[in-house]
Amino acid sequence: MDSVHNTGRGIFSDGDSVVSNEPRRIAWFSCGAASAVATKLSVPDVIAYCEVGSEHEDNKRFMVDCEKWFGNLPITMLKSEKYSSTWEVWEDKKYIAGINGAPCTMELKVLPRLAFQHPTDIHVFGYTADARDMKRAENMVEHYPEMICEFPLIERGITKAGCLQMIENAGIVPPLVYALGFPNANCIPCCKATSPNYWAMIRQHFPNEFDRMAKLSRNVGKDGARLTRLNGERAFIDEIPEDHPITDAIAPECDFLCGLAEQEMAELENDHERDAEKKH
Ligand code: SF4
Repeated sequence: MDSVHNTGRGIFSDGDSVVSNEPRRIAWFSCGAASAVATKLSVPDVIAYCEVGSEHEDNKRFMVDCEKWFGNLPITMLKSEKYSSTWEVWEDKKYIAGINGAPCTMELKVLPRLAFQHPTDIHVFGYTADARDMKRAENMVEHYPEMICEFPLIERGITKAGCLQMIENAGIVPPLVYALGFPNANCIPCCKATSPNYWAMIRQHFPNEFDRMAKLSRNVGKDGARLTRLNGERAFIDEIPEDHPITDAIAPECDFLCGLAEQEMAELENDHERDAEKKH
């Protein structure tokens, strides 16, 4: 891992201190299996990773293994200038997730990307050939028409399961959280997950993080943050019964689109509120 490197096309570093204006092919690596395979399949000038400071520690081991697999190109670590973890963002903003989105995505992923990218860059994303991922890739193209994007997994028809298999075939052990049953290698915990099964699984495997989030979510804002749903109603995560099932834990993917989707969601909710006010 490195923060400054010479790719042969110029010297790139964190922030905006670039020497060359030649197009760079940037592979966005996220410590997940899919982004690893997409990075391997592309021939990037830069492999970029947004440091969120809250992923499982085994993700770093996976990153080191992948870096060797990728070849000689070190991974460029992009960081927020202000925050070093999701917890810092949530505690400082006194906001975790809700109709105004998740501030961690914006602060730790979107803003560092915007500071780093140039209009001429080619962006390589690890969206897979699974239906939901293909839709996200479409949304990416639609909502960021100015970005030049490549989707090597979709082009080759490679699914998420295929990526995990390819990683294992390369002799690399996927991030530990997959073996625990989590659907992706996101932060522990991911604030955007609303599935009670997900939170019950977090409580089982990561009780300290669960307790920290349970306390924080009770204390933020005026009414706290009800991060999950029980019987169709929003609920605090510490209201999930101790014997709640942990199978089929659902957690959203976290990418640069998260903020966008949330922004749309917030706008929709605001529209509904405005319509409701007009009727009264
Ligand atoms: S994975 Fe979840 S907690 Fe981590 S930055 Fe993305 S939205 Fe926030």
